[in-house]
This record gives sequence, C-alpha cells and structure tokens, in this order.
Amino acid sequence: MKILLVEDNSRLSDDIRQFLEEDGFIVAQAENFALAREKLDLYQYDAVIIDIGLPDGSGLDLIPLIREMESDTGILIVTARNAVEDKVAGLNRGADDYLTKPFHKAELIARVRSILRRHKSSRNNVLQFNNLQIDTAASQVYIGEKTLKLTRKEYDLLLYFMYNPNRLLTKENIAEHLWGDHIDQADNFDFVYNHIKNLRKKIVNAGGENYIHAMYGMGYKFSETS
Ligand code: CA
Repeated sequence: MKILLVEDNSRLSDDIRQFLEEDGFIVAQAENFALAREKLDLYQYDAVIIDIGLPDGSGLDLIPLIREMESDTGILIVTARNAVEDKVAGLNRGADDYLTKPFHKAELIARVRSILRRHKSSRNNVLQFNNLQIDTAASQVYIGEKTLKLTRKEYDLLLYFMYNPNRLLTKENIAEHLWGDHIDQADNFDFVYNHIKNLRKKIVNAGGENYIHAMYGMGYKFSETS
C-alpha cells in the first residue's frame, strides 16, 4: 500500500512517515503543493494524506487533480482546529475523510485503513472482454498481462462499455452515465468523442484491438466487429 504524504512541517511529516512505515505502508513525502502535484503526475498511490495549509497553495486544490487522474485513490485531509469550512470544502471536492490537528497517530492509521478498506470493497468483480480485463475491486485495467493506465473518465467509460457489450450506446447515454446531472442537455457532446478517442488510442497502443465502433450519427457499440 503506497501513500503520498503532503505536509510542509517536516518534523511532523517525518513522524507520520515513520509511524505509517512501522505499520507496513510505503510512504512518499511532498513538502509543498508543487512537489505533490509533480508526484501525483508521475506515480499512483493507494491513498493521499493532505495538509490543507501548504506554503505555495491550498491542499484542497489537489483533490480535484487526484480525482481526475486516479481511478480509486483514497483521500484524507488534515485541517487546522476549528477550520470547519475547510472540512466541508474538502469533503465536497471529493475527500473521503478528514482529521483535525493535533491528532493521535493511531487515529491517523485507523482513518487511513478505513479509507483503503472502503475503496477496495466498494466493488469486487472482474470483467473480461477478449484480452481486456477490468479488476473493479482494484480499479485496474489489463490488456493481457499489461496494466493500462487510464484517467478516471476513461476508466468509467470503459467500464460502461464492458457492462454493455454489443449494444448501441448513444452519446447522450454515455454523457448522462459519466457526468450525470452535471451535463447541460444543450451541449453537443463533443467531449464524449474526445474521451472515446483517447481511450481507444490507449487500448490499441497497449496491444488491444479497437472494440469501440462508431455508429455514424447514432452512437457507439463495444464489440469485436463493427
Ligand atoms: Ca501546513
């Protein structure tokens, strides 16, 4: 289990790191917003612990970045005492839980374990289509033995297709499924096309076949042949 710890107080960060490592976690540290962002771009983590008050930005702004990039990373925010609005903002933006400073280290471990458990048990199933496989418990996609790294939207899109093979899915179906109430019905759904294009490219580049077929003017079908 790999954890990214974003905390600018180096003494506190080292303490937490040691405690987590004693508990068997692999810990990476970032002491500011820029470093955290860089690491999140390069590596995948099972959970991220974020101190809200960072010298070069608000830890809150890391949450949407993580939610966009990673399919299933747990997020625990650490807030100053009495910063109620930070907690609310953090949870609204997609954090799983929060911890108020000062906290007992055992409490931190308990929260981290609870978040990881929730993420792993939220679904558990393996979907297979030819050499394409999704482990929904781990939110991992494989082409043969190879792991396919997808954005959250691409992952959701692929999952939707895998649940509905050989069926015509309209752009409206897809947009509604992936964006829910957030989409404007008046939109022309070009963004759906862009996500599909990227997903298709990643699958083909990793050695898969093109299973996503455009049905001109109607939508898309996920199948072996068009
Ligand atoms: Ca701080």
